[in-house]
Amino acid sequence: MKHFKFAAALLFATALISVACTSLNPYFTPAKPHHRADGFVNTDGTRIEKNADDLWAWVKEKFNSGLPTSPSQYVNGYSFPVLSPDREWLANNRGQTSFTWLGHATMLLQTGGLNVIFDPIFSERASAVQWLGPKRKVPVPMQIKDLPVVDVVLISHNHFDHMDADSVIELARQFPKVRFLVPLGTERWFKQQGIENVRGMDWWETDISRGTEFHFVPARHWSVRNFLDRNENLWGGWVVKNAGHSFFFSGDTGYSDDFKNIGARFGDFDLAALPVGAYEPRWFMRDQHINPDEAMKIHQEVGAKKTVGVHWGTFELSQESLDAPIGEVPAARERARLDSEAFILIKHGETLKF
Ligand code: ZN
Ligand code: ZN
Repeated sequence: MKHFKFAAALLFATALISVACTSLNPYFTPAKPHHRADGFVNTDGTRIEKNADDLWAWVKEKFNSGLPTSPSQYVNGYSFPVLSPDREWLANNRGQTSFTWLGHATMLLQTGGLNVIFDPIFSERASAVQWLGPKRKVPVPMQIKDLPVVDVVLISHNHFDHMDADSVIELARQFPKVRFLVPLGTERWFKQQGIENVRGMDWWETDISRGTEFHFVPARHWSVRNFLDRNENLWGGWVVKNAGHSFFFSGDTGYSDDFKNIGARFGDFDLAALPVGAYEPRWFMRDQHINPDEAMKIHQEVGAKKTVGVHWGTFELSQESLDAPIGEVPAARERARLDSEAFILIKHGETLKF
């Protein structure tokens, strides 16, 4: 079993290896600084790249980290309570803005009379296959069939913990009118699945549904779906805005100047969702995943009135304990001298109403 796990870790590490893109970027627009002939780069012109030594050190560290396997062993003794969202209320709600955390980066936002799902993963594993890869540690609070009628699905990037094939296909099946807004290039995968109501969006592009604006914005990350498509599809975050509410989700990201720019363009978000998990070890994760201190900084730079920490407590993807954010988020919030309600963690399945 130990060898099998090690082989699995190695397989995932191999998937991260910086193989150059093999095909030309059909979207390449030389005037756009993040476009390259073979794919995309971050706003500072860099790509997240790890050499073989980094990957080997990371795999060894991951394998030898002795990560706890049962909730009672987690550093804060958090028991990961899962709430059942109020299906009837959600199904009938058209007027009130609400936010429900469905674990990891999967979220339901009800705003402007629309039901919007972010980064759907309802599967048991965050992986290309359901027999191998990071396994869900906390059950999903709500099944796809129990969601209110979904109008829009937003994808931040094509990593398996954000764009789960089974979940996307099931959403399209259950909700035939659903519109998928995805990072530029990613729409090709949707069309291969027979999903036609999809739009691939470049940074700063906008799509509008029934008066609600969806803006795709930059983040510092990368993309890969198979061994050969590294950075051939864009990645980013989402701004959702209408007359009554404004919301920001960064997607997976390292810290960058992008957030000052997003704050300057949109600013004063009523609510934001920022990742606060999968950040250790810093030497490996820093350029692609923020830690809670950096999340506080982004919360301030984008001008969020309130932020919910997401991308934690669901899949073990890194070296910090699954419940580390329970201690680290309040500590970082205090270091940033923020009000206790300004940046919060909520329970799996919990709904906030505005
Ligand atoms: Zn990612
Ligand atoms: Zn992720």
